[in-house]
Amino acid sequence: MTRIAIVGVAGRMGRTLVNAVEQEAGASLAGGIVEPGSSLAGADIGELAGVGKRGVVAVDSLSAIADDFDVLIDFTAPQVTLANLAFCAEHGKRIVIGTTGMSDDELAELDSYRDKVAMVFAPNMSVGVNLTLKLLETAAKALGDEGYDIEVIEAHHRHKVDAPSGTAIKMGEVVAESIGRTLKEHGVFERVGQCGPRTDKEIGFATVRAGDIVGEHTVMFATEGERIEITHKASSRMTFAKGAVRAARWVADQAHGRYDMQDVLGLE
Ligand code: NAD
Repeated sequence: MTRIAIVGVAGRMGRTLVNAVEQEAGASLAGGIVEPGSSLAGADIGELAGVGKRGVVAVDSLSAIADDFDVLIDFTAPQVTLANLAFCAEHGKRIVIGTTGMSDDELAELDSYRDKVAMVFAPNMSVGVNLTLKLLETAAKALGDEGYDIEVIEAHHRHKVDAPSGTAIKMGEVVAESIGRTLKEHGVFERVGQCGPRTDKEIGFATVRAGDIVGEHTVMFATEGERIEITHKASSRMTFAKGAVRAARWVADQAHGRYDMQDVLGLE
């Protein structure tokens, strides 16, 4: 039985994660952490998530439950996640990180823990998206150098704070790496005014923020005469939460290292 604690337990993903842990036979709900000073500290996390009392109360500091859990699941914000990663490394815990929007410096800091802790870090935990990454690799290798323009389009709910989404960037990276390009050199994240025609090798990104869209991603390969679109649409956060719980059960048995969902799903 993997004992799981959830950071940001009152958040959109946090509450969904409580549901997902509840539904997983090999996992138990070992704790929930809310923001320091939150009025929700002391509340039953089952009640917070709408599944009824579970006898586990939310705390506002990780050290209060250090002995109670094996794996931490963290879907919060970059600086919060990095502090929790340091805690897990120090206390011999494993961690699953779903937080997106990290800067290059924050990513480098995260990576510096790869020898000190077992972590799964993925901008998208859904099985479907991770399979889609494989399909994109195949498509990019076949079409990328054959005159097909590549564009990534993503849509999310109006509350999302980072753009483009971590998943869109990951999709762009997979495509770019498959055909010897980089997003640093070929990524185009803004087009406005007299920006001129598109260049052959650029990989363009477009972002939609509206309503309650859970997450939609399309990678378009377009040339004269045809267009191929590979699309993934998430209709419920449960898909990410289930993937994260699967990752938590998997990482519980792993040696120190930085893993992603491709490792968890055996898609490498
Ligand atoms: P949210 O704002 O609803 O939830 C974040 C929660 O973190 C909030 O409840 C907030 O109170 C809490 N929090 C902030 N600081 C904290 C602290 N110091 N200690 C404990 N809790 C703290 O956001 P969300 O929609 O749930 O998304 C959270 C993150 O997960 C974002 O980065 C989002 O992009 C990412 N995300 C990733 C995936 C994936 O599959 N990897 C899927 C969905 C969302």
